[in-house]
Amino acid sequence: MDGPFVYAVPMQHRLTRRGLFITCAAMMASGSAAAERKASKSEAGYQSKSKSVYSCADCTFFRAPVSCARVQGAVNANGWCKFYLFPD
Ligand code: SF4
Repeated sequence: MDGPFVYAVPMQHRLTRRGLFITCAAMMASGSAAAERKASKSEAGYQSKSKSVYSCADCTFFRAPVSCARVQGAVNANGWCKFYLFPD
């Protein structure tokens, strides 16, 4: 049995609310999945050597000793990719 709130809403509005809820849930799920997905080394343009003075070791996303929050797999502290971000 539905609660009193449901009875106060016409059927066409219930369907609209349900559709909106499903749409929002799907968007949130896809957004969080995209945010959690790491790029491949190829997608990131990763190279195992530094670019000028810039390297993974001083990037915001580097997780010592060999991980990265943005790129899949092991990374070299002396490597670099296009997602490089110097900490504030
Ligand atoms: S430069 Fe790229 S691969 Fe290296 S830590 Fe930063 S985001 Fe990861």
